[in-house]
Amino acid sequence: MALAERCAARGVVFRYGLEIEGLAATGERISGIRLAGGEMLAADVCVAALGSYTPLLLRPLGLRLPVYPAKGYSATIALDADSVAPP
Ligand SMILES: Cc1cc2nc3c(=O)[nH]c(=O)nc-3n(C[C@H](O)[C@H](O)[C@H](O)COP(=O)(O)OP(=O)(O)OC[C@H]3O[C@@H](n4cnc5c(N)ncnc54)[C@H](O)[C@@H]3O)c2cc1C
Repeated sequence: MALAERCAARGVVFRYGLEIEGLAATGERISGIRLAGGEMLAADVCVAALGSYTPLLLRPLGLRLPVYPAKGYSATIALDADSVAPP
């Protein structure tokens, strides 16, 4: 909250409670962010930070992120010998 206050003091505008419906792309660049209700936001740079929903947002653009929601505090993953760093 303190960081947000400092950013706002320097001119950052936060818009809370909006739902992103999708992204518009022109060639390989994201040209707009489409909000529920139809509003389109344009930006020079976009940061996709929707947590576990991020892959769903990017998939229509052909981008596949290895981000998966998981339950629990540990995961057991089988590694092959090449994946393990030498001692
Ligand atoms: C029950 C639980 C306990 C946890 N405990 C810990 C812990 O003790 N320590 C720890 O380090 N981590 C913990 N985590 C993990 C931690 O919460 C996540 O790693 C972290 O919140 C990820 O941050 P993020 O900003 O990437 O995504 P998130 O915090 O998931 O933020 C993504 C945001 O995007 C928003 N969003 C999604 N889709 C849209 C859309 N279409 N339009 C607009 N907004 C959208 C969501 O509402 C959310 O506010 C826990 C997670 C859970 C579920």
